[in-house]
Amino acid sequence: MRAPTCTACGSSQLRRIRARGLGQRAVRTFSSLRRYACLACRHEGWARGPIPWDAGAAPRPIQAPGRPLEARDLASRRRRRLAFAASLCTAILAGSMVALVVDWAGRP
Ligand SMILES: [Zn+2]
Repeated sequence: MRAPTCTACGSSQLRRIRARGLGQRAVRTFSSLRRYACLACRHEGWARGPIPWDAGAAPRPIQAPGRPLEARDLASRRRRRLAFAASLCTAILAGSMVALVVDWAGRP
């Protein structure tokens, strides 16, 4: 099978990453597409075929443009996503509370 390549830069230095969120997990479950991060340009996308999970297993690019993908980058991204999800939940909760109060207040 042909090695999958980055859709942004054409590099084959891809690393598989976890599908996040309901939409991405649904795509992963119902198709043969897998989520990847490009080690050369940091693009994240979908590809078919074998993509190694471990960055250490694949040969690292000698001169990669931009910073290499590092564990702490992924960790901070995960933290930001988590914070975003939390604020979204809070907003939804607050919105439904307001709706309830408005509904209650509007009753004769
Ligand atoms: Zn790339």
